[in-house]
Formats: sequence, C-alpha cells, structure tokens
Amino acid sequence: MPISATSARPAQRLMSADDALARILAGVPALPAVDVQLLDALGLVLAEEISADRDVPPFRNSAMDGYAVRGDDVATAPTRLRVVGEVAAGGFPDRAIGKGEALRIMTGAPMPEGADTVVRVEDTDNASDVVTITAPTPKGISVRQAGEDLRAGETILGTGTVLRPAEIGLLASVGRARVRVRKRPRVAVFSTGDEIADLDAPLGKGQIRDSNRYTLASAIRAMGAEPWVRGIVPDSPDALHAALREAMAADAIVTSGGVSVGDHDHLKPVLSELGTIDFWAIAIRPGRPLAFGALKDGERRVPIFGLPGNTVSALLTFEIFVRPALLRMQGREHVSRPRTTARLLEPIEKIPSLRFFARGIHDAGAGTVRLTGPQGSGILRSMSLANCLIDLPAGRDRYEAGESVDVILTEQPEPR
Ligand code: AMP
Ligand code: MG
Repeated sequence: MPISATSARPAQRLMSADDALARILAGVPALPAVDVQLLDALGLVLAEEISADRDVPPFRNSAMDGYAVRGDDVATAPTRLRVVGEVAAGGFPDRAIGKGEALRIMTGAPMPEGADTVVRVEDTDNASDVVTITAPTPKGISVRQAGEDLRAGETILGTGTVLRPAEIGLLASVGRARVRVRKRPRVAVFSTGDEIADLDAPLGKGQIRDSNRYTLASAIRAMGAEPWVRGIVPDSPDALHAALREAMAADAIVTSGGVSVGDHDHLKPVLSELGTIDFWAIAIRPGRPLAFGALKDGERRVPIFGLPGNTVSALLTFEIFVRPALLRMQGREHVSRPRTTARLLEPIEKIPSLRFFARGIHDAGAGTVRLTGPQGSGILRSMSLANCLIDLPAGRDRYEAGESVDVILTEQPEPR
C-alpha cells in the first residue's frame, strides 16, 4: 500500500503496532527470483519446483562394512561361506554371487547381483578365503535400496520452501549446482545525526558513538539479508537527499534517528521528494516514532524504514517491523516469531495507553519470565541480556508478579 506524504497523520495520533505492521507487510514489494550458486541459497526461499533427476541412492548398496550374501545362507550360524572377491565404495562388483558364496563389501559399495543381505564384519571372523558367519543375520538387512531416499521424477521440494542445510543437501543430491530463489535483500543502513561519531573518530564534545549502524547491520545479517553499510548523515536536508539517492540502489533502506518530533519536519520534505513516506507515531514503548514509505527508482520501489535513534528503540522496531518486512520481501509466508506465555516473576509498571515491549529473560523449563533490569530506551544492555520480549498490551498500567504474560521468543526463528 503506497503511503503518500499528503496522507501523513499528525504525530500525536497513535497507530497500533498491528496496524503499522499490516500496512508495512502490504506495502513492501516482493523481490525477484534469481539464480544463485547452491551454497549461496541457504536461508532463501525456493522459486522453482525441484524433482529428482534420478534415484537417490542411484544403486543398491551396502550400509555396512561386511559380506554381501544370500539371506537364505545366513539364517543360522555358525555358517561358512566362500569369499569370491571384494568391492569398495566407488568400485563395482565384477560378478554375481550364488549359493554358499560371499563378497567382501564396504559401506556405500554397490551390491552384487544375487545378494540381498549384508552380514556386518563384527558378525564374522573377517576371513578372506572362507568366512565364518558367527551370528544369524536377518534377510535383507544392511542393504540400502536404490531410490529409498528420492525416486527419479518425484517432486522433492516445492516453490516457497525455505532452504535449510537439509534442503541444500537434497538439492546437491539431485545435482543442482545452481538454484532459483527469491533474491537475498541488500539493505542499505545508515545513521543520522550531527552528534553521531564513527568508531575510529575522536569523540568530540556532545558527541556519541554510532552504535545503531552496527546493531542494525548485524540484525540485517542475522536474519539472512545482506547489509550495505553506508555512513553517518548529518542533520542537513542536502546531505540526507544525497545519501538517500545513493541508497536507492539497495532493495530496502534502514535509517536510524531523526524521526522523532522536532526532527521529522526537516526529513519529511526530502523524503517526499524521492518517493512517498509517512511518519507514524506508534502506540508502543520503546520506539514510538517510525517512518515508512517507498522511494521511487524508475519502476522500482525501494522500501525505507526510518527507525527511531534511541539504541533500544532502533533494534526493537527493527525486530517488530523491519525483520518481518524483509522476510516477506523474500517470499516468506510466516514472519512472526514463536510466542509463549510465562509467569511473571516481578511486577512491571507501564504507560496504560502504550503497548510495552519489555526485555525479558525467559526460563522455558520453569515457565517464568523476569526483566533484564532497567528498561530505558537508551539502555542497550536491556536487549543484550534479553532472550525474549514481554509483550504487554495497551490498557493496563501494571502487571503483578505471578501473572501470566505473553512472551515473544526472539531467539527462535520464525516457523518455515
Ligand atoms: P533521534 O531519534 O535522532 O532524536 O535520536 C534519539 C536519541 O538516540 C538521541 O539521544 C540520539 O543521540 C540517539 N541516537 C541517534 N542515532 C544514534 C546512533 N546511530 N547510535 C547511538 N545513538 C543514537
Ligand atoms: Mg537525531
């Protein structure tokens, strides 16, 4: 949904986080399908249907080091069989075996004709001319059938599948050196503010270090997108205009700072020159101000997320709004983290009109959750110590110890 500058609401009118996320998810474009090398496809969404080009495994083979035999010959033990040869993985048996015969065979080697069972070497005397089978062996055991993993022609992965290591392995099994996936988003990230200094610059009076660019670039990488780390943009319309123009080469843009009241009137004209952008005040804490829109680059629309500058607000609004958006752009259907409920170990006070995302430590075994300590929107340690967010809806001003509360499990991936 395009959001025009003219439809911008006054910052005082608060939007719910659910409404904001719904608008964002409806507004972000789907990224195109591209062909990538198999190893570059991890975490991406398949954009084609994959079928097996042949049986996997392609031939009947041994699951053990031992002797390939006729099952009828080894039903009782001890039994002595004549060893007629040997086959290793990568070799091929040069003859069939008959009654009373055995072929020494290694794991992964093709089974000889006539054999239907492998006696593992531990159940033999390991001899090379005449082998003694020391344990009765069930017919058919330790043989892997051709096609028992994948059948030739069978559809093995559908469009929309998220590629994890197991799926990458399946694709390799059917010989796919390249595969068609939804593009991994390249996300430009920069910081704004006259007070922000980079890490190698001396810290002048009134300046603070730029942590957001590093936090956000890492959050982008952590969710499988590619950060394109840009610079620090001073609070000047010209500098911002230039920075945004360059950043439009990306698939999405994430900035921090300069969206709160007092700043945004200065950002707004620049952003609306380059596309459509809306400044929202969202009824959450932390992270009330947020800008969302799309810059126009010819036919392309490049979503832009202007996150608040406070360190906790920036990372938290990334988690709540940007991460789902980047997942949806990549073709992911499920974009919400798993949730649970837990028993609160300490009281929490909040502003009644705002939904509060408290940083918590969830103990899954005990079914409890507690705060990470002070919850100020500039206290980044509250995020560092957390393994979850406690999601306290608008409406109440206090939650008591012992109450059951909703918890967002931010260390667990979204369902596939
Ligand atoms: P702003 O949203 O620009 O009003 O910034 C809100 C607060 O976040 C201010 O205290 C800023 O100094 C701080 N802040 C803004 N950008 C960054 C950044 N890149 N790294 C750390 N703190 C920042
Ligand atoms: Mg600022």
